[in-house]
Amino acid sequence: MAQLDISQAFLYRVGQSPQFAFRKPHILAHTLDLPVKSAAPSALVNLTGLTRNGLMQALVDSGVVEPRKAKMRATQVWRWMHHYGFTDFDLMTDIGKEQRALFKEKFTLARPEIIERQVSNDGTRKYLIRMAPGIEVESVYIPSVGRAGALCVSSQVGCTLNCTFCHTGTQKLVRNLTAAEIIAQVQVARDDLGEWPSPSEDRQLSNIVFMGMGEPLYNLDNVSDAIDIISDNEGIAISRRRITVSTSGVAPELEALGNRTQAMLAISLHATNDELRDEIVPLNKKYNIEQLMDAIRAYPGISNARRVTFEYVMLKDVNDTPAEARALIRLLKGIPAKINLIPFNPWPGTDYQCSSWSAIETFATILNKAGYASPIRTPRGRDILAACGQLKSESEKKRASVVLREKRLGEQREETASIQDNLPAGESLPFAHLAGGMVD
Ligand code: SF4
Repeated sequence: MAQLDISQAFLYRVGQSPQFAFRKPHILAHTLDLPVKSAAPSALVNLTGLTRNGLMQALVDSGVVEPRKAKMRATQVWRWMHHYGFTDFDLMTDIGKEQRALFKEKFTLARPEIIERQVSNDGTRKYLIRMAPGIEVESVYIPSVGRAGALCVSSQVGCTLNCTFCHTGTQKLVRNLTAAEIIAQVQVARDDLGEWPSPSEDRQLSNIVFMGMGEPLYNLDNVSDAIDIISDNEGIAISRRRITVSTSGVAPELEALGNRTQAMLAISLHATNDELRDEIVPLNKKYNIEQLMDAIRAYPGISNARRVTFEYVMLKDVNDTPAEARALIRLLKGIPAKINLIPFNPWPGTDYQCSSWSAIETFATILNKAGYASPIRTPRGRDILAACGQLKSESEKKRASVVLREKRLGEQREETASIQDNLPAGESLPFAHLAGGMVD
């Protein structure tokens, strides 16, 4: 079985070269148009984020389905929405017309709106998705990662943890994503890849990594429900062994994560002593390295076949010396582990620089000699806004400039109206002025 190269996904969190954010469109990889679908009206319950039991309960509670038929109806709806990817109840041909009409009155299967989609020359696809007004998240599909291709999904809008190397850490937390909003990211990628119904083989999307915006363990209920849905064999059917949850180190939640999801574990480590980790991953002040390592050793199901992945971003003159490589070996002793070395790619505003290539190679050689797989990952999707959070930030900047223009337009309209009020009878200003033609 191919091992998931989750560090490729991690690259989207730690940032890519800032120049990509400012390249002119003609040298960007092509951005393709997708039909924009409206967000679901809030009064309707979106069924896509409900577990099987939750779905049965919702059908019964709504009064639309009799309890004795709930299991059968839930199975039917489940397959249509999660195996076939349907968003329209009318296409569910094994459900009667009247029943479908009742479903439409109470429920929705609508996808969120895709604000932006970028496709890299290397096939990486990045989506900025609006779940609701002000609720925008990113997800990234990375081909040739894991068995076939991995989707890096977000679990929160923004983040509270302020890891200093992470672009998303600069965006304040808005809220947790619901399970439906996490599933929507998978659906959007599947729509785009044309992977409905769920293929039994030759999939393009084979792995899911919770390594996008946010700390998944601060949203464990919804992450856990989403994993139950994604891994269900009669739906999206991605095995739990191909689902990885990456945490910055919420030590007390690791056991619950393992027990509830059986997901693969990744740790955003980046330092081998508390002093440095306090700085790079401030959550370390709450759960220090010793507490974290104890929790990792106790992670349910950990074994040589289910190794923990440690992510280590290479920061010049910060954490990249041979002594730190040796300290890492000592720290991981006894833990079935793989270490992904991530060359840091700076984003606008960061003070960090990437380690030199020779420093990274020396670091990797020391780890390899100690028996740890420690691949050095090259960034993917370098020609798009690839750092996690970067696409959202750029989109917000664009919108801020639109707001400014509208404000200036409003001011000019007021000014125009006052001039108009004072014009002699029968005279008027040119239309272009009123229409904002003078506003640049
Ligand atoms: S927890 Fe994750 S998303 Fe949040 S700041 Fe740290 S690395 Fe970034």
